[in-house]
Amino acid sequence: MRKILYKGGELDLEYDVVIGLEVHVELSTKTKMYCGCKNIFGGRVNSNCCEICLGMPGTLPTVNKKAVEYAIKAGLAFGCTINKKTSFARKNYFYPDLPKSYQISQANFPLCVGGFVEILLDEGRKTKKVNLRQIHMEEDAGKLIHDESLGLTLVDYNRAGVPLIEIVSMPDLESAQEVKTYLETIRNTLMCLGVSDCRMQEGSMRCDVNISLKPKGSEVLGTRCEIKNVGSFNGAFKAVECEINRQKGILNAGGQIEQITMRWDESKNDNVIMREKESADDYRYFEEPDLPILEIDGAEIERIKKTIPELPNAKLARLMQDYGIVYADANLLVSNLDKCGVFESVVKLAKCAPNKVANWILGDVSRILNEKNIELKDSKLNVRNFSQMLELIEEGKISNTAGKTVLEEIMEEDIAPLEVIEKNGLAQINDEEALKAIAAEVLSTNPQISELYNKGKTNILGFAVGQCMKLSKGQGNPVIFQKIVSDLIMRG
Ligand code: ADP
Ligand code: ZN
Ligand code: MG
Repeated sequence: MRKILYKGGELDLEYDVVIGLEVHVELSTKTKMYCGCKNIFGGRVNSNCCEICLGMPGTLPTVNKKAVEYAIKAGLAFGCTINKKTSFARKNYFYPDLPKSYQISQANFPLCVGGFVEILLDEGRKTKKVNLRQIHMEEDAGKLIHDESLGLTLVDYNRAGVPLIEIVSMPDLESAQEVKTYLETIRNTLMCLGVSDCRMQEGSMRCDVNISLKPKGSEVLGTRCEIKNVGSFNGAFKAVECEINRQKGILNAGGQIEQITMRWDESKNDNVIMREKESADDYRYFEEPDLPILEIDGAEIERIKKTIPELPNAKLARLMQDYGIVYADANLLVSNLDKCGVFESVVKLAKCAPNKVANWILGDVSRILNEKNIELKDSKLNVRNFSQMLELIEEGKISNTAGKTVLEEIMEEDIAPLEVIEKNGLAQINDEEALKAIAAEVLSTNPQISELYNKGKTNILGFAVGQCMKLSKGQGNPVIFQKIVSDLIMRG
């Protein structure tokens, strides 16, 4: 093992970081995986359950066709091979959130095998293929609610039986940043396919992170530890960093890594140990006797393939290439399809540079949405009004500042920007004579402006223009003001 000297003078060893992820994603089907109960988030506690998802004796599951279709769609998007024959398996364990005491998952014959997730690194200048082992189908468990005031744990089975796919990667990831980008790419892709809403805050996308270290260049993988159920991109990032440091500490001190299972504790900002690692054998997997082997028609796979839209990485590259949008902005746009859709329509419709359109969407539009805590589709913004507003600014009919006021209104109701301008007296004054009168008044009430300017303090002009804007109630054209003010000072 090669030893290198760190800045602090301490001896440290060089390691390769090896990470593999198991990502669980809830599918946004109307009903659950093996019964007809509604698949919705946040319904009244224990109102969306039946004998089947509660595991009553004598009930039988049936497979949700739409869930299989969504899983195939995801598999195709990631270049997996779709197994024409696939079967379900029981994963047996007892936990209060699992009323059947087993989860119907897949083991030996998963639906999708192979494939890869391509991630963009280094501001989009590099790509990396993270290989997948498989994508299989399974069902979610219920939700335990630990109520400290009651001193009780409550259980809500609404989530029990919600369809999930589990995307299992090969151990190809090498850093916290790669993990974060990998998760973002999966989320953007699945949202783009319309198979999941991937709302991490609602738990519809979670991941288990497996991490090990090995001496740099070694062929043999080290012992891995697993962090279960990480529910946010930043959580995943921090959990990985913490775990790499913990393992480094142990190895550098000459210790050995024990294979343990942890969970990320947001409040402690650290991983906490849950248990020693369980193995596949512990679950006593066996083929599900209540469900037949599922045979999938090749024509059906072809049909699903045709429904796959342009995927995020391709979209991102196109935004950069066709519209000159910088990587960071393009990345933000592809991670929100509604914003991206508005961007593309407005760019085609409005006489306004694409990067300005992107700036408005990622700047003021996003700010207003955040302030109201709503999504774009919940606002009244439409492409027609938004385009007109941008053109009015381009044509100098309103200032940028007035544009923000117009934007607030057209996001609130479907009203023509011209009407907003009329109503609020926002039209920009470009008439030189009118502006000159205002500038003259500013200069006579603030004689220090001319004095300072003549002493060489030319940046006083900014203040002067500010005063002119104020006096014109924001309606004066600042570019013309600037010219007029300096002309007036020069002429004394
Ligand atoms: P389990 O059955 O415990 O979930 P798997 O063999 O299915 O284990 O692997 C789960 C995940 O762990 C996969 O994403 C895989 O890439 C990853 N993995 C396996 N071995 C290692 C290792 N030594 N270091 C890091 N990740 C690993
Ligand atoms: Zn049910
Ligand atoms: Mg695992």
